[in-house]
Amino acid sequence: MIDFEIEPSVVKRVKMFHMVADGVMRPISREYDEKEHEEPEQYFQTMWAANAMADSSLDLAKKKDGDGAKDGDGAKARSPMRNLYTVITTEELCWGDAGLFLATPNAGLGGAAVMAAGTPEQKERFLSRFRGGQPKWGAMAITEPGFGSDSSQVTTTATREGDDYLLNGTKIFCTGGDRAAKSEGFIVVWATVDKSAGRPGIKPFVVEHGTPGMTVVRTENKLGIRASDTAAIVFDNCRIPKDHLLGSPEVRKEGGFKDVMATFDATRPIVAAMAIGVGRAALDFVRDFLKQENIPVRYGISPRRLTALERDFMEMEVQLKAARLLTWRAAWMMDVGKHNNLEASMAKAKAGLAVTLITQKAVELLGPLGYSRELLLEKWMRDAKINDIFEGTQQINMLIVARRILGYSSKDLN
Ligand SMILES: Cc1cc2nc3c(=O)[nH]c(=O)nc-3n(C[C@H](O)[C@H](O)[C@H](O)COP(=O)(O)OP(=O)(O)OC[C@H]3O[C@@H](n4cnc5c(N)ncnc54)[C@H](O)[C@@H]3O)c2cc1C
Repeated sequence: MIDFEIEPSVVKRVKMFHMVADGVMRPISREYDEKEHEEPEQYFQTMWAANAMADSSLDLAKKKDGDGAKDGDGAKARSPMRNLYTVITTEELCWGDAGLFLATPNAGLGGAAVMAAGTPEQKERFLSRFRGGQPKWGAMAITEPGFGSDSSQVTTTATREGDDYLLNGTKIFCTGGDRAAKSEGFIVVWATVDKSAGRPGIKPFVVEHGTPGMTVVRTENKLGIRASDTAAIVFDNCRIPKDHLLGSPEVRKEGGFKDVMATFDATRPIVAAMAIGVGRAALDFVRDFLKQENIPVRYGISPRRLTALERDFMEMEVQLKAARLLTWRAAWMMDVGKHNNLEASMAKAKAGLAVTLITQKAVELLGPLGYSRELLLEKWMRDAKINDIFEGTQQINMLIVARRILGYSSKDLN
């Protein structure tokens, strides 16, 4: 049975995250939207220290409970509801600022790929760095100049040479790629070990910062989430040890590409939660504005007596709540070990669409004020759209949902 009752200790933590969103992120939200490519150093240090504190307090709590086990992803991995907890806190932080959230030093998408495809030893080896030292970033690079949605089209090659692999190819639009390369982080790069094998030949490789042959050639100028760096990276005979291939090197029918999908099943609910955070920011703002202007929103009356504004506002609330429930379900399914491919795509498709509509409507309801840079509404509208694009576009996630419900393969329905 689905149970979304949040433990009191988690409620307390969510309140703490809200304080961070309100007190640390919001005050610099506009500044780092305007100053794309500049580094919010103070923010990085604050968040890095806060994360270390949160981990050690969880460690202490676990020790008290007599469970000191380590499993490679820091203390958060040991919480039985880790994914649900992650989406709830992600919403809170993205209520603060989605761009800064993506810029926060942590294992990021690279960590998600290691968790999805790595062995226990690799998880420990590659992720333990995020427990201390200086701020670090992890990133993941699938997208190439020749494809985005259809990730089976990977052309970057990984050629075995003795005890190493040589990577060659170009990756674009890699979130956090520049910071991962500049810090003591890593980038998980998806490359093919055997083009003739098709999808099963695609494997994830951890490329450490500073590896010769890996060059960040550009960071993008973007519409929204401008505090987040988005890198284009060239791999030119980039040599990495063979044990940086995550999981098994064997090219099996069920291997390779399945790990890409497993990574997305884990990350799509998080992107959905990001969307919900941005949507809630806009909704909360409109609610406060209406209150200030003494404009009532009357619940529980006949729909035909509602004003157009009341209808719009309630519709925004409904969209947000529906997206949140789908998202929580997708995360909860992972926590209890259920396959969530369908539900992760449902949540992502719904949340991306909902936040796009909600933020546009919020700008519309406020009129010229909504369009002005005096307020953050126009920024949230810009930040919202990416949730409909990365981690599988709206259309691709709808396709996945349709395939899973109707029982079609990707060959049958594309
Ligand atoms: C800011 C930002 C950050 C990103 N971060 C990362 C990252 O960290 N790592 C990474 O690997 N990638 C990242 N990406 C890339 C992102 O995942 C891709 O842009 C996305 O998958 C879409 O691929 P595409 O750009 O090639 O678009 P296309 O695949 O060319 O799609 C263009 C349009 O066609 C539609 N379309 C495509 N195929 C179909 C179909 N079969 N049926 C119906 N409609 C279809 C799409 O929905 C879309 O609307 C990022 C992108 C951006 C903008």
